[in-house]
Amino acid sequence: MQHFISLIRKCKNPTEISDSMFNELVDKIVVYEAEGAGNARTQKVDIYFNYVGQVDIAYTEEELAELKAQKEQEERQHMEKQRKREKAYREKRKAKKITENGGEIIKTKTCPHCGKVFTPTSNRQLFCSRECWNQARQEQKEAAREAERGTHYYRQRTCAVCGHSYWPTHSQQEFCSDECRRINHNKKTLEFYHKKKGNPKPDPEAVPTPKPKEDNADDYHEKFHP
Ligand SMILES: [Zn+2]
Ligand SMILES: [Zn+2]
Repeated sequence: MQHFISLIRKCKNPTEISDSMFNELVDKIVVYEAEGAGNARTQKVDIYFNYVGQVDIAYTEEELAELKAQKEQEERQHMEKQRKREKAYREKRKAKKITENGGEIIKTKTCPHCGKVFTPTSNRQLFCSRECWNQARQEQKEAAREAERGTHYYRQRTCAVCGHSYWPTHSQQEFCSDECRRINHNKKTLEFYHKKKGNPKPDPEAVPTPKPKEDNADDYHEKFHP
């Protein structure tokens, strides 16, 4: 009996089992429904042997411990493999970077503002110093302003009379057109006149305000920018 059990235990992890051996040993096999999922999935199988019937061939404590150790060993090996793969990848990437940088480990950059070659403290550092960064930003702002201004010497202004945007041709220019300048002049004169007469509010009807016209400013430009 003891001999039989040890023989059966060997068959729990069979490497090879012949049909005749199987037929000789086994009377019937009862397979139960599987329980759980993944690693926790179990399925009960009862094996009825010839001559001895059903024999309890559950794993012994030692066998269970051995299986557990085996599984842990496999996991350790798997982790070790993965670590090696990751290390190899990192080294490959580093080697690539070094060759890209002409064989130098520390990558140097050229400051786009002053042209100085420097060693950045991080990959994101672009300029050699904060000063260069500030100056470059200032220049960028000025360039943007320049682009907005185009060929005009002075920046765009808004006419106080008609509300139209216009490009002044001299620093003292306050209105978009001669017409707006005249209207403003008349208004001022009228206000002065009313003040003198003691009338606190001038008649708004007396000063016609023209609606903003697209060609107002353009006319003016054509006159002053031949
Ligand atoms: Zn610089
Ligand atoms: Zn105007």
